[in-house]
This record gives sequence, structure tokens and C-alpha cells, in this order.
Amino acid sequence: MFFNQWQQIDFNNIAKRLEGVTRDEVRRTLNSSRIDDMLPLFSPAAAEFLEEMAVRAAATTKERFGNTIQLYAPLYLSNECGNSCLYCGFSGKNRDITRRTLSTDEIEREVEAIYNMGIQHLLLVCGEAPAKVPISYLKEAIHIAAKRMAYIAIEIYPTDVDSYRELVEAGVDGLTVYQETYNATRYAELHPAGRKRDMPWRLDTPDRGALAGVRTLGVGALLGLDNPYADAYMAAYHARYLMKTYWRSQVTISFPRMRYAEGCVVTPVEVTDRTFVQFITAARIAMPDVGIVVSTRERASLRDNLAGLGVTQMSAASVTEPGGYTDRDISTAQFQVEDSRSVEEFAAMLTQKGFEPVVKDWDHDLH
Ligand code: SF4
Repeated sequence: MFFNQWQQIDFNNIAKRLEGVTRDEVRRTLNSSRIDDMLPLFSPAAAEFLEEMAVRAAATTKERFGNTIQLYAPLYLSNECGNSCLYCGFSGKNRDITRRTLSTDEIEREVEAIYNMGIQHLLLVCGEAPAKVPISYLKEAIHIAAKRMAYIAIEIYPTDVDSYRELVEAGVDGLTVYQETYNATRYAELHPAGRKRDMPWRLDTPDRGALAGVRTLGVGALLGLDNPYADAYMAAYHARYLMKTYWRSQVTISFPRMRYAEGCVVTPVEVTDRTFVQFITAARIAMPDVGIVVSTRERASLRDNLAGLGVTQMSAASVTEPGGYTDRDISTAQFQVEDSRSVEEFAAMLTQKGFEPVVKDWDHDLH
């Protein structure tokens, strides 16, 4: 399990190593055809190689994935949460937010609205409130979504192998879980209460999903909570571990940057656009087959330029509050989105740039 590997790594030591990487080390890494040690590509010293990295990442992406970008949308089922993550609008400590859990009729309406937008890849999202959002509720939501959606992923509270197995049997294809930060000390500060305090349990979540038969495993770190270079590298290290250990599963990685949310009390460490692009290109060069996901957290102009640079999946026309596709109420949202274009507008931009927006690339009959 990943926790065993992570225990042998000192986060501060990784941060120090990244700081000490030289130009020559980056050059040597970029010159090798097989990259065993990807750390130099995530270092501050790699910034001056960004153009070269972008060219190589673009070529590798084209070779492995063609000119395709898969589109998906998140569906927030509930904003109830018993955790108190200091960077999140859904924190149980945030009294200013209206709490809402969708009924089965509301889920049906939201799924229909997303389908009518032209999306068939769905990400079901909820906070950590298993008493209000139990596995039985999630199974029902998956059954409803499966009537319209070709691919269903979940971003829910970490659970055990048996529960994941039930969700897979109900129709789940993918599991996403962000570690937020891989630094144990910072993790403890940011999660003062609730089940999320258990860092080893969260670190092993993708392993449990894989053991339950989840087909796609997604990891990432929320950049801005700690040293972004070390967190981005650790997320890539985690992704590579999963690719090696569960070679039958597809693995994706994402580098979400912190966004303002009502109730958030963390001042994020700045991650510039160039550094963000560096991490995406580094991940592509070091792991040619990894899926790379970029959400509507990023602004439209940047997302337009990221197509082709390594990204394989992008969300479109997302809302981050429960019920938001049929009844907008941003006072219940998790965070503000930056790219609010419609699916049609976003797909038109991709087509104009020579990419094929893919709304469906899987069918359950293929199982
Ligand atoms: S990040 Fe997730 S677990 Fe933490 S408060 Fe927000 S919804 Fe809850």
C-alpha cells in the first residue's frame, strides 16, 4: 500500500532536494529517453527549460492520445461535511453556507441537464457525511446517472474495499481522491477535526479502490497549501506508484490550484501559471501514459493554451454546488469557477484549435 512507501520519504527532504537541483541535472533528465528519477523536472531549476518541456510534452501527448480532449462535468450531490478543512467552503465549521443533499428526483434532473449539455462523462462529488450520504444513497445516485452517462467517476469520502466494490457493481468506473498535501505536519494543521485527519487512511484510498476493481484511479495535490514543488512531485510519485502496482488500471493526475471559497482561512502559497504548466509538462514527460486532468478552476485563456500540452481531460460548464445545473445558488458552492463557458463554446474552441472534444469514449457493453 502507498502509505508504506510514503513513510520512507521525508517531505522536507524532498523540498530541499528540489531546491538544490542544478541546470545540469535537469538537462541530463531531459536528455534521457527513459526517466527513472523525475524529481529534477518538478524543481525550480526546470523553469528555464519550460519551452523545451512543452514541445516534448506536446509531442508525447499527440503520440499517446492523439488530438483528443475528453470532456466531463462534476455533479455535486451534497455539501454536507463533518470535516473542517481550513481551505474549503464545505467545511462543517462554515455556518454561512446552506446545506443541501439532493433527492433522487433532483439527481435525475441534474443528470438530465448535464446530458442535455452534451456531456456523458460524469464525476459524482460529495463531502464527508456518511450518515447523510451513505453508500446506499451513492449506489442509487450511480444507478440514476448510469441511465444517461457512459462513464461515472466518484470523488467522495474515502471508504473501505467492500464499499468500493459495491459502488463498482453499481456502475462506478473511476475514483478520484486528492491528498491535498503530502506533508504530514501541514496536513495535521489543515485538518483539525473529522475523519479526514487520518492521513494514512487517505493515502491508501486509491489502493483500496484498485483492489475493489475501480478502472481509473485519480490522484493529485491541492497546490498552494504547502511547498507546491514538493506536493506536485509527490502527487506524480503517487501516480507512478499506482501505475506500477495496478497496471490494469488507468491512472490520472491533476494539479488543482487553490481558489477562493467562502469560509476559507488559508492564504495560499502562490503558484504561477508558468509553474503550473511546468508541472503538467513534467508529468507528461515522465509518465507518457498518465491521464492529466484540468478543471474549470483555471481561467479560459490558460485552459485554451493547455490543450495539447499534456492535458487529456477537461471539465466544462461546471457548477460546484448541489443542484446547480437546474437551480443556481452560488452561496452553496465549494469554490468559484474561473471558466464559465458552455460546453458548446468550449468544444468549439477545441475544434477550432484542431482538437476533437470527446464526450463519450466508453460504453458499459465493452466490459
Ligand atoms: S475538502 Fe472535502 S472533506 Fe474537506 S471540508 Fe471540503 S468537502 Fe469536506
